[in-house]
Amino acid sequence: MSSVLPETTIPAGPAEYDDSALLGVYKPAAPVFVAGRGSRLIDADGREYLDFTSGIGVNALGYGDDGIAEALAVTAASGLLHASNLFRTEPAAELARELASRSFASKVFFCNSGAEANEAAFKFARRWAGVAGGEAKHEIVALHGSFHGRLFGSLAATDRPAYQQPFRPLMPGVRFIAVGDEMGARAAISTERTAAVIAEPVQGEGGVHPIPAEFLRLLRDLTAQAGAALILDEVQCGLGRTGRLFAHETTGVVPDMVTLAKPLAGGLPMGAVLLTDAIASAIVPGDHASTFGGGPAVSRVALEVLRRLAAPEFLAEVRWKGERLRAGLERLVGSGVVVSVRGVGLMLGIELGAPAAPRIAAALDRGLLLCSAGERVVRLLPPLAIEPAELDAGLEILAEVLA
Ligand SMILES: *Cc1c(COP(=O)(O)O)cnc(C)c1O
Repeated sequence: MSSVLPETTIPAGPAEYDDSALLGVYKPAAPVFVAGRGSRLIDADGREYLDFTSGIGVNALGYGDDGIAEALAVTAASGLLHASNLFRTEPAAELARELASRSFASKVFFCNSGAEANEAAFKFARRWAGVAGGEAKHEIVALHGSFHGRLFGSLAATDRPAYQQPFRPLMPGVRFIAVGDEMGARAAISTERTAAVIAEPVQGEGGVHPIPAEFLRLLRDLTAQAGAALILDEVQCGLGRTGRLFAHETTGVVPDMVTLAKPLAGGLPMGAVLLTDAIASAIVPGDHASTFGGGPAVSRVALEVLRRLAAPEFLAEVRWKGERLRAGLERLVGSGVVVSVRGVGLMLGIELGAPAAPRIAAALDRGLLLCSAGERVVRLLPPLAIEPAELDAGLEILAEVLA
């Protein structure tokens, strides 16, 4: 097999893989990956896999990207990987300006993950809402089908009873409403009680469900009337995944906060909250903090990633590639187990009439990495930088395993 990497640069795998000391919160697939290039991962036996998961939407620029390597090399050479937020460093300030200039926001807070970004947004919303409404105005309204993370606050706003049950009591004060339920939204969002409404413009873990723009606009109207913040969780669907820098751009909705994470720092851990001036002005020093948040190394890498993902030509290509992949998938509908296809850009879900796990295993055997989003949905999150020929190669394998 022709390799995407010269043999000598592939690290040797361990003689015997031993994960007996790793806590059993994951159920990883069998291959042990040791290297990656472009849209491909290489395992310890030298076998290549085409990756349609991109690290759950993280590796938007694929593996082994030269720009990311260069940004890392520059910070490594400076010796300044971390200095803490007691002191000023330039990359975070520049990254914040860059995110603000490309969005509705005027301020940015940096942290280390998607769940952390959502929890920070909850705190900021409560702080801001409390100015007008006091402690009573603390509730968070979330949507059925949502996923916002697995910490106590973000888990409370995640509509997965099975994830929640063993860990109760969670953060109190969360209400759920159904997507599209106008009456339910009107009843749940209250001037006296509601601090924020949180929604993913395209629900990811919940099955790849785009939220109808009219419903997001309704949530915008109701939150504005109630003096509550509208938080859009773009941890998975943001930063180019839909073919727009922000997934909400096409909805006409201007949020109060947007949370980002997965692809932001090219595989290094980084989350961010984008805020309007109005919310930001309620926040004072000490209200929130993160030891690692916005460190010089992650911030410099994120600047490189953001500039590349935000380029109009890059985003146009994502839209074009998304349409190509979707058209290929639509041809499978009705044949085999494929019931329907949904999603936006390069965030697509294939609804099956049968469990997804055996098909995902069959694809792995054929060298294609896939993930699920619920029991019967195959979720596709290929690198945004994927080559069209690689999309076609993936489609061929998908057609085989879903037939
Ligand atoms: C992955 C994800 C999160 C959680 O991010 P972590 O970095 O795993 O904490 C939150 N919201 C959405 C929409 C996600 O897809």
